[in-house]
Amino acid sequence: MLFSQMFIPTTKETPKDAVLKSHQFLIRAGYIHQIGSGIYNFLPLGKKVVEKISKVVRDEMNRSGAQEILMGFVTPAELWKSSGRYEKYGGELLRFKDRKENEFVLGPTHEESVTEIAKSYIKSYKQLPLNLYQIHTKFRDELRPRFGLMRGREFIMKDSYSFHASKEDLDREFSKMENVYRNIFRTLDLDFRVVQADSGAIGGSGSKEFMVLADSGEDTIVVCSKCDYASNIEAAKRSKLVYEAIPPKAEFSKFHTPKINTIKKLVEFFKVDEFFTLKAVVKKAIFDSHTQKLDELVYFFLRGVDELETTKALNALNKNGANILELVDASTEELIECGLKPGFIGPYALKNITNANHVIFDIDLENAEDLICGANEEDYHFVGVDLSLFEGLVYEDIAKVKEGDKCPLCEGILEYKKGIEVGHIFKLGQRYSKPLNASFLDKDGKSAFFEMGCYGIGITRLLPAILEQKSDDKGCVWTSSSVPFDLSIIVSNTKDNHQLEYAHKIYEELKKSGLDILFDDRDIRFGSKMADFELIGSAYAIIVGKNFENGIVELVSRKDLKKQDLDCEKLTDEIIQRFQNTKRK
Ligand code: ATP
Ligand code: MG
Repeated sequence: MLFSQMFIPTTKETPKDAVLKSHQFLIRAGYIHQIGSGIYNFLPLGKKVVEKISKVVRDEMNRSGAQEILMGFVTPAELWKSSGRYEKYGGELLRFKDRKENEFVLGPTHEESVTEIAKSYIKSYKQLPLNLYQIHTKFRDELRPRFGLMRGREFIMKDSYSFHASKEDLDREFSKMENVYRNIFRTLDLDFRVVQADSGAIGGSGSKEFMVLADSGEDTIVVCSKCDYASNIEAAKRSKLVYEAIPPKAEFSKFHTPKINTIKKLVEFFKVDEFFTLKAVVKKAIFDSHTQKLDELVYFFLRGVDELETTKALNALNKNGANILELVDASTEELIECGLKPGFIGPYALKNITNANHVIFDIDLENAEDLICGANEEDYHFVGVDLSLFEGLVYEDIAKVKEGDKCPLCEGILEYKKGIEVGHIFKLGQRYSKPLNASFLDKDGKSAFFEMGCYGIGITRLLPAILEQKSDDKGCVWTSSSVPFDLSIIVSNTKDNHQLEYAHKIYEELKKSGLDILFDDRDIRFGSKMADFELIGSAYAIIVGKNFENGIVELVSRKDLKKQDLDCEKLTDEIIQRFQNTKRK
C-alpha cells in the first residue's frame, strides 16, 4: 500500500478521556474513530487488525471442527422471555420495539438464538455433538463504557456454542476448547494465564477465563508462586489460614468498649491480632423482580483480617436457597432501622433482633474460638467467643483471597496479578435447553435436553489487550500475527530520485513475496515519517537514507527499535528469509 493513497488519519492530539495508552494510540494512529459513548468506527488500519485477529481465531476454530454461522444481531424478545433472561439481564440488555410493536433485543450474547437452531434441526443423538460459532457484533449497554475498545457498548465477539448428548461429552469438548483457546492466544503471541472463573448460579468447575497479563488490567487474578494454580479473584480459593499470634484466651464475657467501633480500634484496645476479631459485613440483597420479594438485609461474618468477596457471597446465598440478583451496600440508616448498632454488630441474638433470613460465616471461622465480636449493644463487645458452641451456623467460602494466603493445591504463597479478560469458556449444561424446551432422542429413544457449552473471545478487546502488553511510550507494538503491516518502507529524501526508484523497486519485489507493506511515499519531513512508523507500529521499517550512496539501507525493528545495516543488493532475499523464519516459529 502507498501511504499517500491510504486513509490513515494520524494525529498528535491525545483524546481527553483516553487514559490507557492502547486507547490513545488506537485513536492517534488512525485505527478507530469514536462515534458515540462506547461505540467506535473501524478505519482501514483498525479493520485490518480485526481481520488479522479474526483469521487466527477462525483458522483454529475451523481446525477444531466447529462450523461458522452468522446469527441475527436483532433477536426476538420472546426467546429471551422463555429463557428468563429478558428480566434477569438487567440494564445491559437493549430492548426495543419495531413499528408493529413487536419486542426485540440487540444480542449481547446468543445462547437463545443458537438453542433455537439446535431445537429446530437436531432430533437425534446421532446428529451430536455440534459446535457452531460466529464472529459478529454484540451490544451491551455497559454502565461505564471505558478504555476505548476494551469496554465498549458495541463490540465484536467470537462466540461459539456446543451441543452434546451427555455431560461427559460436554466435558470432552470443554477441554478441547481450552486447548483451542490456548493455541489461539499462543499464535497471537500473548503472555496469558488460564484461570478458574466464577460460574455463578450454575456452579461447578465449568468456567475458565483467559487473561492477558497487563498492569492496566481490570481483573485481579490470584496465582500460586509454586504450582499452576490460577484463579480470578472472584472464584479464588485458599487453604485454611495459619496464624502465629497468641490467641486472646478469656472467659466468655461482655466488655465495655466505648466508641470502639472499627476493627482497627478493637485491635488497639485489646492489643490482639485482628485474626481473632469477628468482622460483620451487612449487605442489601436485590431480588429478581419475578419473585416479588422485597429487598432485605443479609449478614456475613469474617475474620478481621479478611474482606468479603461479593461474588462468592452472592453464590453462597443462592446455593442456600435464595434467589438474589445482586448485593449492594447497606446504609447506616438501614442498619439502625433493623435494630443494629453499627460498629458493634455480632452474631448473638442477631436473628431475633433483625429477623434475618440469611447469616453466613466464612469457612475459615468454622469452630473458631478465642474470638472478640460485637455484642449488638452500643459500646459493648463479647470476648472469649467460641463458635463451636453455636448451633446450625452456615459456613461458606466468602472471603477474598489475599496476597500471602496459601495455595489450596500446594500450600505455595499466593500472589496477585492484573489481567485483561479476552476469553471465557463455560459449561452451560441444560441452563438454556430446558427452558427453551430443546431436546433430542437419546440412544434409548428417550427425549433428553441438550448439554451445552459456550465459548467467547473478545475480538475487538484483543486490540487494546495486545497493545497494553506490548506497546512502548512511542506507539503501537503489535505481535506478528496481529500487525497491520509487516514492513514500512521509508525514503528519507523523496527529492532524491535514486532513493525513490530503489524504494519502489524493493516495494514491488517484496510485495510479490506476500508481505504486507506500507510504502511511505509522502513528501513530508523524514522525522514525521519515522514518528508515524513508531505510532502505527509496522513490524519493521526499511529506511533508505544517507548511506544509500554506499549501498547500505537500515532495517529497524519496531519491537525494540534496534537498527541494523543491510546491503542494498541482498536486501530482498534477506528480508524474505527473515519473515519466513518468523512465520515458521
Ligand atoms: P467482563 O467481565 O469484562 O464484563 P464478561 O464476563 O461480561 O466480561 P463474557 O460475557 O464472558 O464477558 O463475554 C466474552 C468475551 O467478550 C469476554 O471475555 C471479553 O473478552 C469480551 N467482552 C465482554 N464485554 C465486552 C465489552 N463491553 N467490550 C469489549 N469486549 C467485551
Ligand atoms: Mg460484562
